[in-house]
Amino acid sequence: MVSIERLLSLISPKAISIEPIAGKGLFSTEDAAGLLGQVQHLGYAVGIRVLEAKIGGNSGSKLLLIGAVTDSLISAGMAPTASRAIAEIAVSDVCGTGKCEKCHGTGESYSMRYNRIFKCGRCQGTGDHFPKMRDYATWFALLTKSSCSTEDFRNLYYDRLMDAIDTLSREEGEAARQCRKMLNLTEQEVA
Ligand SMILES: [Zn+2]
Repeated sequence: MVSIERLLSLISPKAISIEPIAGKGLFSTEDAAGLLGQVQHLGYAVGIRVLEAKIGGNSGSKLLLIGAVTDSLISAGMAPTASRAIAEIAVSDVCGTGKCEKCHGTGESYSMRYNRIFKCGRCQGTGDHFPKMRDYATWFALLTKSSCSTEDFRNLYYDRLMDAIDTLSREEGEAARQCRKMLNLTEQEVA
């Protein structure tokens, strides 16, 4: 079975261009591109871009997503600079590794000072990337070159950011489901 990860890595620049499928036929880069194109045209274009950016490491897709989210925020009445920043945070969040940036997902951090390993303070030992309101506010202030406080961020932007993140994650899930469905069909044809 060709996985979603494998499907996306087939079209990434570093791909090995062929994958045995169901032990019989072969699934090539062209097949992968064709399948993704089909899913895209079925109405999962945003979700496919998320998968390309997240799994395929495609920075072009990431930029397109940021552009699309920015536009939708602007048309919802948000100022362009703020829209762009929220879009960038949302896309980075959804397309990121999901792991804590400090401990890289191990949940532990080594202290040079004490020469021993501690529970990671950033993620409380979970290893998950779960930014706090303050982290988002700092990120936002940096991107907009403003002095947005945590409180301002909470009041003005947090809900919009969460909406954008939810939408992107949902689109990603739906596109991945559709890809799996089509991969199953392809494998049945080959087998
Ligand atoms: Zn951590």
